[in-house]
Amino acid sequence: MVDVGVQTLPQPQLQTDTDFGQHNHLTQHSLVRLRKTRMHLMHPRLHQHPAPRNPTAISPMYQATNPGTQISHPLQTPRNTSPQNPSLQKDIAIPAIDRYYTMQRDVILQQLHGKQLILGGDGRCDSPGFSAKYCTYTFMDSATGVIPDFSLVQVSETTSSNKMELIGFQRSLASIEAADLTVGVVVTDRHVQIRKAMATDHSDKKHQFDVWHLSKSIKKKILAIKPKKLLNEVKPWIPSICNHIWYCSRQADGDSDKLEETWRSLLCHISNRHTFPGKIVTQCGHFH
Ligand SMILES: [Zn+2]
Repeated sequence: MVDVGVQTLPQPQLQTDTDFGQHNHLTQHSLVRLRKTRMHLMHPRLHQHPAPRNPTAISPMYQATNPGTQISHPLQTPRNTSPQNPSLQKDIAIPAIDRYYTMQRDVILQQLHGKQLILGGDGRCDSPGFSAKYCTYTFMDSATGVIPDFSLVQVSETTSSNKMELIGFQRSLASIEAADLTVGVVVTDRHVQIRKAMATDHSDKKHQFDVWHLSKSIKKKILAIKPKKLLNEVKPWIPSICNHIWYCSRQADGDSDKLEETWRSLLCHISNRHTFPGKIVTQCGHFH
């Protein structure tokens, strides 16, 4: 009834307080509100009677359109008890997510097929230290940014929580290779077990260290300098030193000798010497 009224009445031109008084039941605000109400009424979803927030208040309507639903006490939430009605999470949501994930993964693997991949991998645990229960290991293709595989490892699968990362790494890399993808380079942090696995089980692939992890590790080492007086002298250089690692990596362009010389030039620069003897690098990169 309200809806019909809004449709037939012309929109009032409200100019003065008097006008507001005459049309106080149809102010601009209420017109907008009523139009919104009409939009809601026309929306087909309304007829499906979605699950109420407070089931005890309108449960008859919800139950009428959702047979088999009962109100679970004391939580007061609707619960499906009929054997004909499937479990929303177990029978509908999880299989749908699983199906979509598998479909998407197949597309990604197809895209990466035939390429020499440069994979970046890292593990993430649910808590730091030695008390973690779960660890996810993820590989990302550096050229496209897509994730061809990831693994979830539970601590019960290993003898200790610090082995979870290695298991996740091996599992995911094996899965990627089983999908017939060619891995040329693997980039990780300096995890000791993974370094060993790369040297023994994956010696056919190039292993590189991630610059971000290296930079973080060097910063940590500098902050551990003792005595404190010495640290205070070095501290202002920390951001520049960390930037220099990124610079070295970019300048070297895969040449490990150039990388090392550029890194060593840091000490000369700090002691105000900007040209120095070297095989490849003989001066700083900045303007002199
Ligand atoms: Zn310099």
